[in-house]
Amino acid sequence: MKEFDYIIIGGGCAGLSLAYELEINDKLKEKTLAIIETRLEYKRDKTWSFWKVFNHNFDDCVIKSWNNFTINTSDSSNELTNKKFPYQSIDSGKFYKKINSIISKNSNISFFKSLSEINSENSIIFNSIFEQDPDKSELWQHFQGIEIETQKNIFDEEIINLMDFNCDQRNDVHFFYTLPFSKNKALVETTWLSNLEDHSLRDYDLQLENYIKNNLGIKNYKINFTEKGAIPLFSPSLKNDKKIINIGSAGGMTRLSTGYTFLNIQEHSKYIVKNIDNIDKVKIFTIGKKYKFLDNIFLKVLEKYPEKMPKIFFNMFKTSSNTIIKFLSNKSNMIEDISIINKMPKLIFLKALFS
Ligand SMILES: Cc1cc2nc3c(=O)[nH]c(=O)nc-3n(C[C@H](O)[C@H](O)[C@H](O)COP(=O)(O)OP(=O)(O)OC[C@H]3O[C@@H](n4cnc5c(N)ncnc54)[C@H](O)[C@@H]3O)c2cc1C
Repeated sequence: MKEFDYIIIGGGCAGLSLAYELEINDKLKEKTLAIIETRLEYKRDKTWSFWKVFNHNFDDCVIKSWNNFTINTSDSSNELTNKKFPYQSIDSGKFYKKINSIISKNSNISFFKSLSEINSENSIIFNSIFEQDPDKSELWQHFQGIEIETQKNIFDEEIINLMDFNCDQRNDVHFFYTLPFSKNKALVETTWLSNLEDHSLRDYDLQLENYIKNNLGIKNYKINFTEKGAIPLFSPSLKNDKKIINIGSAGGMTRLSTGYTFLNIQEHSKYIVKNIDNIDKVKIFTIGKKYKFLDNIFLKVLEKYPEKMPKIFFNMFKTSSNTIIKFLSNKSNMIEDISIINKMPKLIFLKALFS
């Protein structure tokens, strides 16, 4: 069976980002790479959005960038503007196409459907597959989004609605998210923070239909694209094997309080490529202990007091846009952290800290 220097298990966001980063940095001229991927075809399946706090390789896959965003509860609205760190959405279809068209030109890179087709004994393995199905009773961010197109120009394409809590909470945490790609096209998403055991929350179609009709006031539209997902908001159980480097969501690249993963994956890929020649010896890349600690407390509060979360999220954004963006993108300094912590209700956070 054929041997490879590197093996990437899972050719999704993290796997392909890493393969691309290796390729553009000429690390696959003398080395070979096998990508193990089960999907039969690559097509648009997700929209990755984030604040662009550093440069990445995929500006040409961006659907749109915005400088303005709002947070709403049933009785308040807050609008923030930031010119330094735009919010961007990436079309996964364009991302897959761009990467595959580049890496397919390198004969040192091969795709396989299963690890059993190759000899992996002497390879360095980058794994983006969860070892076991994550626990459904824990906290997840689960959602469904639809890209809708209207005949008339309805949307203000300069401003996104990051979180709209003016909706049914059903004893969990629920908000809608609207990204206007143009005046007549927008991605509208219903998002829940809850366990995955309660199937009653998954009437996403109905939730979206009602929100679009009653909150956005839109009666006629067509649906161009649907995406659905569930992101675990807890650390994955990782294999402790020096020869296997976990990447992507399975490698802990999800920011637990928000679900944001895409830009962390890009940072991780750059770190791996920079250290590729001694990757089994360097420190494991993480989002950072500080954020893990703060997010754990935040999620404890969220699980215990879901009814308080719309107000808590709303208050978090009552700071400068730079501060909140840097905090949510793991780039905040201590003063910025304190400014966010100061917005939180002290007693319940202290209780969560010591529980
Ligand atoms: C619908 C959706 C929208 C999201 N939106 C955002 C967003 O806006 N912003 C953000 O930051 N994050 C977002 N995320 C979270 C995160 O960025 C994505 O989940 C991202 O795709 C994670 O990358 P990954 O490589 O870890 O996993 P994936 O991209 O899922 O890649 C895993 C790959 O492994 C393959 N695979 C599975 N099993 C096997 C197997 N046994 N053998 C071989 N291959 C296998 C899969 O086919 C897949 O291609 C979203 C997630 C989803 C699901």
